[in-house]
Amino acid sequence: MPAPATPDDTRLLAALARGSRALIDAHFWSDGVDQLLEALGLASGASRVWIFQLLEINDHGVVQDYVFEWAAAPHYRQLTHKHFRFFTSDFDDPVYRQLVRERQRGESQRFVIDDMPAGTLRSNLQGQGIASMVTVPIMVDGQWWGTLGIDDCERSLRWEGAGLNALTVAAELIASAIYRHRLTSRRRQIELLQRVTDCGIWEVELRRRSTWCSRSLLRTLGYPERYARLSLRRLLRSIDAGDRQRFWQLLRTGKHTNQHSWRLDVRLYTADGALCWHEIVIEAIPDDSGGWRGLAGLAIDISQRKLGEEQAQTAAEYDDLTGVLNRRGLGRHLGAALARQEGHHLILVDIDYFKQVNDRCGHPAGDALLRLLTQRLARELRPEDGLARLGGEEFALVVSGMCDDDVFRLGERLRQRIDASPFQLESAVGQHGSVSMTVSLGIAKLTPHSDLRHTQALATAQADQALYAAKHAGRNRVACYWALPLDLSGPESG
Ligand code: GH3
Ligand code: MG
Ligand code: MG
Repeated sequence: MPAPATPDDTRLLAALARGSRALIDAHFWSDGVDQLLEALGLASGASRVWIFQLLEINDHGVVQDYVFEWAAAPHYRQLTHKHFRFFTSDFDDPVYRQLVRERQRGESQRFVIDDMPAGTLRSNLQGQGIASMVTVPIMVDGQWWGTLGIDDCERSLRWEGAGLNALTVAAELIASAIYRHRLTSRRRQIELLQRVTDCGIWEVELRRRSTWCSRSLLRTLGYPERYARLSLRRLLRSIDAGDRQRFWQLLRTGKHTNQHSWRLDVRLYTADGALCWHEIVIEAIPDDSGGWRGLAGLAIDISQRKLGEEQAQTAAEYDDLTGVLNRRGLGRHLGAALARQEGHHLILVDIDYFKQVNDRCGHPAGDALLRLLTQRLARELRPEDGLARLGGEEFALVVSGMCDDDVFRLGERLRQRIDASPFQLESAVGQHGSVSMTVSLGIAKLTPHSDLRHTQALATAQADQALYAAKHAGRNRVACYWALPLDLSGPESG
């Protein structure tokens, strides 16, 4: 029997160079693997070059699948054999268990059948017509991913030295390709996630005060996508100053309460210098001593949501028919007005006998009149004054910085203007021509109280009492709560 031959190192090295290039150039990594196996097969003159992928190791054995093969001739092919599809090798045989342990550790194995002791492994290989075999595990990220093997059915080939090293390098090239493929897939997933969620990813290393931001976040903040040295100070300054304080407060509280993740809505200065709402998701990265090594998380663009919320808020504060504030909107206006240190008054305006106007002219005409009255009231007010429709044909005005007498005079002026000129209805509301209307007004001072609702309720009750007095005294009048029950003005008293 001839002495075992060794493969040609120089040819193997050339095969490696060819395979390595193929792995880099291939559109699909698996095409590159096919080309590397072919190069190895041709260079070594072997019958078959194959890869088994490891699927599972359990207590009983190993489940693998035959995933790649190059064969020197069709009769060497095994990939399509049914018993190599998701095949299980049992641990019953201690030799096989030993084999698996070695592969898990990343060790290669070489068999020349004639030199092997009798046993299941030898008979198994003989059964496949193999004369010699070499295997090298493919280790991805420190884990046994699969096995690269070369079978020779004609010769007893002895793999050692440079030849075996070349094979080890081949397995590492394949492992790198698999790893690269995984990273590419992961990057695609992250990019998709960023696109569909409008979110950026960030990470801060606290001790070195260094930062990392995803390209999309850098772009949002107005930096080049490959900007490598965004300082922590700069990153933090892209958060609105007030929101930044809330951010620190959140982290400080979290440190004491042992919390590790948060969500916070903040405004970020974006590329065009505008503030844009983002939800910041924050996760603390612990260190070995129970502290925080860093922080990481997402910045999700929520400007659309905020816009929707603001629009809903606005819609909830305005009256549909007339477009002025409603009762809720008046409350907010009052809150802002009362923060200013000056006198404030509430004026209630109620149309006299409006029911009759509706009955006479129809409801659509009544609606048109409510709109016209609103416009006329608004014309008499200053921009800082508040005008609201409380419901039905009742309106409220909030005026600031005026003395009692001036407010009374304002009320009187409103009353007279409405009384003096009839409202012109358009034919669009089914009626046209002019309609005369009068209003009664009740005025009260707004006395600031720590509870805004209390302030509003008290002034409304008092102005309502004055309004009732104006109605009672014959309508088309102005009554002030502080002058009840006497000082009623109206056309008769004027
Ligand atoms: P008073 O002088 O005592 O205030 O008499 P009034 O008829 O104005 O008062 P009343 O409270 O009896 O009736 C109010 C009327 O306002 C009843 C309803 O027909 C009318 N009204 C309430 N809301 C609307 C509205 O949105 N559109 C129209 N067209 N009419 C309304
Ligand atoms: Mg009325
Ligand atoms: Mg009324």
